Amino acid sequence: MSTIPLRALGASALLLVPTFVAAQRPTLSTAVKQYIAVDTPVVALTHVRVIDGTGAAPKEDQTLIIRDGNIALLGAARSTKVPDGAQVMDLTGKSIIPGLVMMHEHLYYPTGPGVYGADYVSFSRLYLAGGVTSMRTGGNVGGYADLNLAAAIKAGTQVGPWIDATAPYVNGPSPFTQMYALKDSADARRFVAFWADAGATSFKAYMNITRAELAAAVDEAHRRGLKITGHLCSVTYREAADLGIDDLEHGFLASTDFVKDKQPDVCPGQSAAIAGLNAFDPKSPEFTALVQHLIAHHVAITSTLTVFETFAPGPVPPGIDVLDPVLKSQYDQQYARVQQNTTSPIAKFLPVDRAMEVAFFRAGGLLLAGTDPTGAGGVIAGYADQRQVELLVESGLTPLEAIKVCTLNGATYLGRADRIGSIAVGKQADLVVIDGNPAATIADIRHVTLVFKQGVGYDPAKLIESVKGKVGLF
Ligand SMILES: [Zn+2]
Repeated sequence: MSTIPLRALGASALLLVPTFVAAQRPTLSTAVKQYIAVDTPVVALTHVRVIDGTGAAPKEDQTLIIRDGNIALLGAARSTKVPDGAQVMDLTGKSIIPGLVMMHEHLYYPTGPGVYGADYVSFSRLYLAGGVTSMRTGGNVGGYADLNLAAAIKAGTQVGPWIDATAPYVNGPSPFTQMYALKDSADARRFVAFWADAGATSFKAYMNITRAELAAAVDEAHRRGLKITGHLCSVTYREAADLGIDDLEHGFLASTDFVKDKQPDVCPGQSAAIAGLNAFDPKSPEFTALVQHLIAHHVAITSTLTVFETFAPGPVPPGIDVLDPVLKSQYDQQYARVQQNTTSPIAKFLPVDRAMEVAFFRAGGLLLAGTDPTGAGGVIAGYADQRQVELLVESGLTPLEAIKVCTLNGATYLGRADRIGSIAVGKQADLVVIDGNPAATIADIRHVTLVFKQGVGYDPAKLIESVKGKVGLF
């Protein structure tokens, strides 16, 4: 993820006279400061390629001025004056993209059968190292921990991305030991109200919720100005759109809309859903009608190809070597099993889902992206976020479109596009410095050399090194 020593990056750096006003950001603790490579009020990134996150063509040889955490100036290097005393970084050969805004992240990793271990420390560092400066957790099994971590990062006492902290899963009875089981719609309303009061800023409905419970949860969340997404099964995508849901997770994998004889409020099981979808042509009128229905109801779709990929034969996912050795060998065995499996239904479904996601995007739907570090392992925070961008390109989006999905689209969904998600004067300086040109070669996105969040530059190598061999433990 980091191949260029930061010393090389800052070779032309000059130190600045501290005459500028303090940045509009919290005071960072020493625990955070140890990962910082650049922290001066005015920074000039010169001779850099700017990929602004809107899908616009890259601009070559630009100068971007960061002042007090915001983007103060952006223009051609030859005509943009570098303010006196700015810390100058010559980024010739490098690109900047907006900080990634990823929408299906978790602060846990599968450690045993049906059990998720807490990864608040390691994952928050790895997400930031991978270029993620804002993220939504897609459901939590840690209760207050997600909320507390989000607050600690905001306050500057812990290092990591800005977090839209999702409450524990909004679900009916399920086999998951770490989830609450809703009793009825009144309970769903009470549950949403309780977690919103506790500080949760978003919600995720899950596979065994009823339509009545979902309706109550949507109503209570919206009443408070909060959004709710779903990894559904018991409720179809069409029904959820009619009930006012804001987003649907996992592309179309969780859609039970095309399952024959589906019983209302009952999850027919993920394999039945996939079988129903596998028989389906993404160009069919039925699918096109569902896409139109979702778009008409302003429902976003979150792509999570990274977790699907671990269930199908394919390349070793990136980042496995940072895992705790026990978890790494557990995953290595899982990987070997998957490579032998030639009849995996997800492997068959993967190209279908990719075509469906692209169809939704091309039809004008708000496509979001996340990684979902669950399944049987192999989805590693930060590394997987870069892989998700690659997978969108492999699915048929252009690199610029894939970058937009993973930046501006997320910000748009979060209602924060005025501050984050693209590179523009006046916005927060959340920027990823990449060695190479991801607009031409998307795999260059793996070569992150520096990550700016609120104008402060974090060293990805240091962040990774601090948790290497321990990921999955804490
Ligand atoms: Zn998830």
